[in-house]
This record gives sequence, structure tokens and C-alpha cells, in this order.
Amino acid sequence: MAGRRIDVRGTVQGVGFRPWVVRVAERSGVTGRVRNHARGVTIEAFGSEQALLSFLEELQRDTPAAARLFELSVRSIGDEALRGFEIVTSSSEGDKALSIPPDLATCAECEAEVFDASNRRRGYAFTNCTACGPRFTIATGIPYDREATTMSGFEMCAACRREYEDVRDRRFHAQPNACPDCGPRLAFVRVDGQGPSGEPLGDCAALLKEGAVVAIKGLGGFHLACDATSDAAVRALRARKHRDEKPFAVMVADLASARSLAEVSEDEEALLVSPERPIVLLRSRRDDAVAREVSPDTPLLGLFLPYTPLHQLLMAAVGRPLVMTSANLSDEPICRDNEEAMSRLAGIADAFLLHDRDIAMRCDDSVARVIAGMPTVMRRSRGFVPRPFYLEKPIAQPVLACGAHLKNTFCIAAGDTAYFGPHIGDLGNLAALEFFEEAVDRMEAILCVRPEVLAHDLHPGYLSTRYAMSRDDVKRVGVQHHHAHVASAMAEHGRDGPVLGIAFDGTGLGSDRSSWGGEFLLCFASGFERLATFRPIALAGGDVAMHEVWRIAYALLHDAFDGAPPLEALALFRHVPDESLRIVGQMLERELNTPPAHGVGRYFDGFGALGLNRALSRHEGQVAIAWDFAADDVVEESYPFDLDRSRSLLQVDLRKTARAAVEDLLSGVLPSVVSARFHNAVIGVTIQIARELLADLGRVPVVLTGGVFHNERLCRGITRELAKDYEVLRHREVPPGDGGIALGQALIADAILGDKG
Ligand code: ZN
Ligand code: ZN
Ligand code: FE
Repeated sequence: MAGRRIDVRGTVQGVGFRPWVVRVAERSGVTGRVRNHARGVTIEAFGSEQALLSFLEELQRDTPAAARLFELSVRSIGDEALRGFEIVTSSSEGDKALSIPPDLATCAECEAEVFDASNRRRGYAFTNCTACGPRFTIATGIPYDREATTMSGFEMCAACRREYEDVRDRRFHAQPNACPDCGPRLAFVRVDGQGPSGEPLGDCAALLKEGAVVAIKGLGGFHLACDATSDAAVRALRARKHRDEKPFAVMVADLASARSLAEVSEDEEALLVSPERPIVLLRSRRDDAVAREVSPDTPLLGLFLPYTPLHQLLMAAVGRPLVMTSANLSDEPICRDNEEAMSRLAGIADAFLLHDRDIAMRCDDSVARVIAGMPTVMRRSRGFVPRPFYLEKPIAQPVLACGAHLKNTFCIAAGDTAYFGPHIGDLGNLAALEFFEEAVDRMEAILCVRPEVLAHDLHPGYLSTRYAMSRDDVKRVGVQHHHAHVASAMAEHGRDGPVLGIAFDGTGLGSDRSSWGGEFLLCFASGFERLATFRPIALAGGDVAMHEVWRIAYALLHDAFDGAPPLEALALFRHVPDESLRIVGQMLERELNTPPAHGVGRYFDGFGALGLNRALSRHEGQVAIAWDFAADDVVEESYPFDLDRSRSLLQVDLRKTARAAVEDLLSGVLPSVVSARFHNAVIGVTIQIARELLADLGRVPVVLTGGVFHNERLCRGITRELAKDYEVLRHREVPPGDGGIALGQALIADAILGDKG
């Protein structure tokens, strides 16, 4: 007889890993114990060499779907005489905190039961097991067990209790375990007061097929749903929700249905079916299988698969794709409670599909996309929160990093782990701030962390910064926006620096109080040096120019043509009233209310407006995204550009680029060609600067970060070239955009305080 100690690192908590280990052990004929701890799971196994060998083999072969093994180390230990194999419960605070896993999509076995006419859970919308179901969104405290979830009010029936207590059952310790006899129930309420038939799902499906808008209570909040194939239904939803042109996500029943609507690569398929079940942005097939109104302005279509039995049953009953968008008015947090939803969504929803299991924590759907070959999480929320990141170096004091203004998420870091909170959204109003505060409180509670350091953006006007200023008994550290972007990627890849950070986005306050966003930064965790940037654009009227992108185009041309741009000849400016043109012309001339902005995103706005004749951007990045997709893939020529070495800081000068683009547009060159040549110029200049800087810096890794790197063509072009000679680090599980910066803020704040001693 012999013994082995097996340390498993990875996502192994709350995914049914330990009971699975017990079953594998019993099959292999080994005895021993398994226990959770902060970093993973430790197994001690005893038996014959052959039994141990088969045990180890199986451990690495048929891992539960939601578990991720990063590392598995084995060493020999002395033999112990034990009767069987047991799960040892953990006792320390940190281990308890970690016991709350993210919500997991319904597993194949539970799904099969729900559709099996002979099963006691047929048609039951709240079926789950140890490997799947709600977790984070129902947790009210720690440790994660039934009493500390919103399932505590439901008493398990004898059959469910038996499953729960039997280690051989796949519902062993499944905290939300339930069945039609003892668990939560659905209810369907029509606004017009028509009585329900007693078949909530059937009623809901019937009404959706008639073109109605239904508010559906899901896992982390309410969705607004409607028939995605009906123009009228989608238009009605858009109008009632006050959402101009922003694309809606669409839920499809299965992969086959996803393939009929969009192109799905292998990587994209893996994202679609992953236990996190994010919305995946895919190339639409554009054959009118869904209403044009779903995503009127982009070739991308956000699709996701049902992730609870409720959604699976509903999709089966409706038999067509459904728009499923967060239930809120534009810019407000997602609805959570039945009463709250019914009052806030009055006037939007025709009916409500409700249930009586409370949502403890709001959690929007996550969003992912394969960008230039890399599966990238763009919005990290349901399915990911609160999965930890392991830091290379432990931090000294617990940090709460408050994030940015747009697409806010915060991050709590303590010891060697960091946790993102759920997606909060744009912190532009009081409702969003309240959600932020509530989410921070809850995360601090379930993680047992009391932050001693608050990291925040340098921008004094951000509500996240003001929140940081309002808290007592903490140290505060202001972190530069683009430094934070780069540090997020460094943290994700376990690097301390130095790295050459290329941070391209729309805006972020620089340490000189101007708006940055075309930055080449030499970064360490504790500091950075700005090495190069883009020539600033005058934002006539300030923030208004982000929406009225014609102003950016005007400013570009005013600069490029020395104050005498050929406006009359360009189609774009025919969409703009003469009076507005005159006023903006004067502002640019006199440099009145024209704050300079270095953001590369602004160049995409300006060139996109010109090339596509689009005067307005109706939601963030709309024109820039359209400009990306306008580009002709086969065009390889590039517009010229300059590097301005006359200043203290190296500057990319695209005035020549603008003149060349105007010349092309005036001589009738297609926008697709203009876009491609523009993209190639930005790629070319970025590579040239990076190579110059790297020649001095030596072989340091290059980090690509910032929302502009959602641009497929840019990302591909720059990566392909720089990767020939350098290590190029891109985001994977931390969003490249502002939703990802909180992790970097946390790391930087810790490093800065550490430097101060
Ligand atoms: Zn299951
Ligand atoms: Zn039951
Ligand atoms: Fe940013």
C-alpha cells in the first residue's frame, strides 16, 4: 500500500469537483480525503500502486465540465489505514469566501431530465445539480450553503433531501437543489389583466409568438424578451426601452440555430457552449433570419444559448430566436425584484414571467468575442463573477479598485487573489451608483475583505472617484487610466514589467490633466513613462463631439488643411446645419472650448464619420465599429503618416493621412478602400513606433490594451507584425476596455504604496 498527495490548482470550487473525486476514488478502490483551500483542492489518496495509478489517470481525464485544472502536482506520502474516502470541510475564513462559485449553465444531464417525460423534474424550470445552477446570484452570505442562499425558505422534500445527502448522487450538496414539489415556482402576469391558464411557460411562449414584449426573471436579473424574427416586436421593444440603435442580444435554442444566424468558428462554438454561457458576438449571416432592427448597424450579432432550464424550456416552447436584453431603461441597472420590475418596467413589458426565488446579487450577462484569433471576454459578469484571479505576488493590504466611468466594474484584491465584481454599467446616474455601492458592500461581505486601500481613476468627476473620496479610514491612490489598462493585462499574464504598453482607447485623463488615449507607455506596476502619443484632436464643444462625430471630422480637417478644409465638397458636412458648421468653425479657429484629445478612438470616429457620411454616433463606438467593418480585407496599400519628433514627446501625426483620405473620397474611391488604407496607416505607424521604442528598451513584452483593440483588423495587423520579434500580450479573461481596468488599478495602488515603504 502507498500514499499520494495531489494538489490541484484551478477552478475546482463549487463545481462538484470534490464529490466527483470521491466517486472516482471509490471506483479506483483508493481511500483517503479531499479538502478545499484557498488555492484549489488537496487530495490524499491511499491504496495499491495500481489503484493509485488508475485514480490519477481518471482524475485528469473526465474532469467535471465546469472545473478548470491549471496545475496538478503529485508527491508520495506515508500510508494511512482508512476505511473510505471523505470530504473534509474547510474552516478558515478565506476558504469559506472562496466557496462561492459563479453561476453555471445547466449541465447536459439536468437538461435531459427536464425534457424527459418520465422524470420527476420534467418541465421544471429550476432543476440543477452539483455541477450546474445558480450560485453567486443566490448567495446571501458565507459559507456557501443552503441557509446562506435565497433557497433557504424552500424546505427540501424527502426525495430531494436524499439526493442532497448521498455522496454518490450528482445532487450531493447541490445547495439550490429543488423539484416541482418543493422548489421555486413560475407565475405569469399579464399587464392587461387577462387570467393565466396555469401554464406560465406556455402562456409566456404564446404571447411572445404574438409579438409581445415580456419581462422574464432569470438568473441575475430580468430580461426583456420578444420575438427576434418580428420587425414589429423588436421595433416596439426598442421604442419602449428608449434604445436608439444599440444592438440587442439574441438567445437561440442550440448551436444549430446559432449557425443558421451567424458564422460560428471552433473558438466561438467553445465560447457559446462554455459553462459561463456569455453572449458571443458573431458575424451575422444577414439573411434576414432575425429582424434587421435587432442590430441595425453592425455585421455583428450577439448570440447566446439558454443557460437555465427556464430558458431552455421557453426556447423549446417558442421555437424561434428571442431578443433577450437586460431589463432596464437605457443606462440604468438591471431589474432584480418582482415588485421593482413590475413598477420600473410598466409601460415597457406587456407581461411578466416571474418566480419566487429571490435574486441576491444582480449579475448581467457576460459578453465575449473572438478578436483576431483570441477568445476575449469583453464584459465580465454572470458566469465569471466571483471567480478569482491569482496574483503572482501577494499584495500587502486589501484593495478596492473602483474602476472607470464607462462599463464600470470594480475589483477587490487581498492576499494573492483578486476578484472582479459584476458589470455595473455606465456610472452616469444615481441608480447606477447605488448598484455600485450595494455590489461593493456585498462583495466585501462574501469575500470577508475590508479594504484598507482605495484605488481610483484620476478623473475627479467620475462617480467611482467620488465614491472613493467619500469612504473613511482608507488610504487613497489615484491611478492613471492607461497605466491601469496596461497593468490589467500585466496582471492577467503574471508580469511585473517592464512592458511596452500600447493603450488605445477613446479617452482617459492623463497625468497632465488632458485627455489621453493613443499612448505608448513603458510600464511597471508602480509607475510608467509616457514615450509617445497621437497628435491631439480639438474636441469642439468637449463631450458633445463624442456624439456629434462630424465635429471630430471637422477638427481633423481644420488641422490637416491649415484652417481651410474643403467642407463643401465632402458629403458628410451636407448632413450638418450651416449654422452649426459656422459655430464649430469659429470655435476651432479661436480655440474656444476645444479641449485636446489624444485618443485613437477619436481618430476612428473622425475618419469613420468622413468615410461613411455619418454625422452622429448614437452609442459609444458606433461609428468607429462601423468603420472597422467597412474596411476591404484585400486592400494592402496604406495612407502616409508622419512622426513628429520636434516635441518633448514623440507624436503620431495623421494630417497627411487625412489629406490623402479626403483626396480619395473626392475622387470617388470607395469607403471600403479608404477605411482599409486608413487602418493600414494606423497599423503601420503603431508598428514603426513600437519597433523604434523597443530598439531602445530591448526585449520587453508588448501589451495591447484599450477599447480600440476590439478592432479586429487593427489587433490582427499589429499582433502579426510585432509577434515576429516580441512577445505580444493581449487580454483574454480581463476585458480590454474600461470594464477591465479595475484589476490594474488594484495592482498599481499596492505597488505605489509598497514603494513608499
Ligand atoms: Zn446539472
Ligand atoms: Zn423536492
Ligand atoms: Fe479606457
